[in-house]
Amino acid sequence: MDWEAAFEGPLSRYLESDGRPDSVRVPWPAIEDADRDLADLVLEDPDNGLKGARSALSSLGYINTPVRVYELPERRTYRVGKYGSSALGELIGVTGEVVDVGMVKPCAREAAFECQLCGTLTRVPQSGGDLLEPGQCQGCEQSSAFRFHLGQSEVVDFQRIELQRTDSSMDDPPVEVVFLWEDLCETVSAGDVVTIVGTYDILPDQDEAVLETYLDAVSINKSEQPATVDEGADWKVRKWTFDAVDRLSTAGSSYDTATREVIDTVSDEHGVAEGEIQAALDDLEGGSLISEHRDGRVHITTSSTPTFEPDC
Ligand SMILES: [Zn+2]
Repeated sequence: MDWEAAFEGPLSRYLESDGRPDSVRVPWPAIEDADRDLADLVLEDPDNGLKGARSALSSLGYINTPVRVYELPERRTYRVGKYGSSALGELIGVTGEVVDVGMVKPCAREAAFECQLCGTLTRVPQSGGDLLEPGQCQGCEQSSAFRFHLGQSEVVDFQRIELQRTDSSMDDPPVEVVFLWEDLCETVSAGDVVTIVGTYDILPDQDEAVLETYLDAVSINKSEQPATVDEGADWKVRKWTFDAVDRLSTAGSSYDTATREVIDTVSDEHGVAEGEIQAALDDLEGGSLISEHRDGRVHITTSSTPTFEPDC
């Protein structure tokens, strides 16, 4: 099923019948019910997946209407800073407290540049960071001087905010920069605890090996309550996870168990989000206590009994 068929069929109830909405909000599970491939595409290649959704809406008469996907699966939802580089380019949900709210500014989502040699306009999509200029002119193919052309650029509201990990005992809790566009601007205030779904990405023009990241927001949901696990409990999640692997592993030669079963067990017993458990598994593997296999199984690789204590 393509987006147009989805919006005409199973997702049609998310379209308002009258008026022109600022955006169309769709819970991710509804996309999954409509079409598994579309749902996967949204998670793994959100830039293209959501662009497709937006252009399908355009064809249906909803011009320039962003699709706001929310309610991602738990395995995709993290506290600030608990996701790794493997999440780059993908759609994730991040829960945290809004701590810094920038002014709403006009920002070129797509900037038009006029070639000073031949006058041809070249359009370059922008990320919200430094202005990206074309490498060369689409007309004369020279890398000439370019002039930014406001009238031909697509300019929308833009706001930069920061999200901080909640309930942290650290002096400097992790913070993630978040870019809000269009109707998402001016919807949060400092102190709000929110879950923001967005594309985890790196800013252009990096000048250090440690990459500057940000979350390009797709949707915002205000949380009823803060994230389930507080900062002091990171070590507890590692302990619960290790214990679960230990307990579920049968005493055979391989001494392993299904990773899925570990995640379900810790999630059921302690109410921990899947992303947190996956992060704990990664930590345990980094500490050479367990080893995860491509076949979805995990086994213990230490013969001693590790101790788990608070990090701070
Ligand atoms: Zn030119």
